[in-house]
Order: sequence, then C-alpha cells, then structure tokens
Amino acid sequence: MKPYLLELKNISYSYHTLHGETKALNNICFGVKEGEFIAIVGPSGCGKSTLLSIIAGLIKPERGTIAVNKSDGTLGYPKIGYMLQKDHLFDWRSVYQNVILGLEIQQKLTKENIDYVHELLNEYGLGAFKDKRPSELSGGMKQRAALIRTLALKPELLLLDEAFSALDYQTRLIVSADICNIIRKTGKTMIMITHDLSEAVRLADRVIILTSRPASVKIEVPIHLTLQDTSPVAAMNAPEFSDYFNLIWKELNDEKTH
Ligand code: ADP
Repeated sequence: MKPYLLELKNISYSYHTLHGETKALNNICFGVKEGEFIAIVGPSGCGKSTLLSIIAGLIKPERGTIAVNKSDGTLGYPKIGYMLQKDHLFDWRSVYQNVILGLEIQQKLTKENIDYVHELLNEYGLGAFKDKRPSELSGGMKQRAALIRTLALKPELLLLDEAFSALDYQTRLIVSADICNIIRKTGKTMIMITHDLSEAVRLADRVIILTSRPASVKIEVPIHLTLQDTSPVAAMNAPEFSDYFNLIWKELNDEKTH
C-alpha cells in the first residue's frame, strides 16, 4: 500500500476578530496518498477553504500537524499548485505569455522549463493557439491554459477550490473530466473542494465529508466506479454512481438538519 504523502493530524483552527472567536476546524485527521484524488465536501461555511489554506501553507494551524512522507525521498513540503474558480488569465498577454507567467515571476525561465511548457501546450491541444489572446479561447481551453500555467511550475500537489463552478453545467461536465484526466496523466496528487456532489463522486478516489462548523471529518467514502468508456458522463452511468451519490447526500443532509 502506498504511504501517505500528507497526513493531517488533529488540525484545529479558529479565527479571532474584534467580534470574538469563530472556531472553523476541530481535530481534522486524514491522509492523502501520492497520486490520489481527494474531494472535500461539507456544508457551506463549515471550514473547507480554511482547511485548503492550511494544506497550502497559507495559514498555520492553531493545533495539530501535517506530516510529509514523499516516496522519492526528497525532503520538504510538497510543491503546491492552486486552481481557483476564475482562470485569472490576462488578456493583454498571449496564451503563451500567460502560461509562462509563473515561471517568469519565479525567474525559472530556463530552456528546460520552456520546452516543457511547449510540450504541455502541444499535448493538450493549445499549441496552435499559443499566440491568441485568452478571450479568443473557449471556457474549456481557458481552464486548460490555467492548468498548464500551474503545471509549468511542476507542482507535486494540486489544490482545486471550486475550480469548475463558474462554468455552465454541460461545459463543467466536459472540462472537469478533461482537467482531471490531464492531472491523472501527470501523476500528481489532487485535493479538490466542491459543493457539487456529483462532481465529487465522478472525479475523486475518496470523498471526505466534513461536519458543519467547526469542521471535523464526518466520514470518508472511497469511490470505485465501473467505467464503460472514457466519456465525461461515463462515471454518472456507472452502476455504483447513484449509491455513492445518495450516501453522500444523506450524510450531508443529516449535517444540515443537526
Ligand atoms: P467554507 O469554505 O466551508 O464555506 P470557510 O473556511 O470559508 O468555509 O469559513 C469557515 C468559517 O470561518 C465561516 O464561518 C467564516 O465566516 C469564517 N471565516 C472565514 N474566513 C475568515 C476570516 N478571515 N476572518 C474571520 N472569520 C472567517
């Protein structure tokens, strides 16, 4: 069995404002294996974004630790890539200039990294569009460009915060499957926050359901779907899909009515 890349142990966090204390996370414990796709779902306002910020290292937990165990033996916290709801592409730069932006800021525009960006652009269908402006691309292509900008920095762990929620339903089905297929191909580990239960079941290897605030882990649901084909709707047609969906729906609704 693969070891955990990250192991969250008893993570707690509270916000302190002039109006008092808001306890956001309470004793969160779970592990994430290398190459695994985790979806985190929970009632609105329960602490999901706070948890992602702690995993990203943007805020420090009040209590608890995150243990790191990389299989390649390298030391240090995994390199993080973030994908947000908005693609944050700049229209005054070409697609190519956008995807190299992170490398440019980090002063890592080496020949090797530039070759890698071209490889990604060509492999994921944007090679012919590299001199276009982002506004000339479809919603799906923009998300691909945003992903390539993230992948150019060779992250080991990708964090997705409601990354597809700005897209209309049909585009979202196609783009989320497409983006996750690319991430799987590159062998990265992924943690995504979503309020879309179908998305969680379709895309994740394991769904972690949080309680209402302060969030703790209510239940973890490993997902095993029998896929007939590689289409974006294949997961929804899997015989196990509705059982998983109903189980997670029930767990979440129990939370909301508490
Ligand atoms: P979710 O992502 O599940 O909607 P959040 O992690 O954004 O939840 O927020 C959890 C709780 O912490 C909410 O009650 C929210 O109002 C509060 N909170 C979030 N950010 C801050 C902040 N910067 N200062 C004070 N309270 C905050």
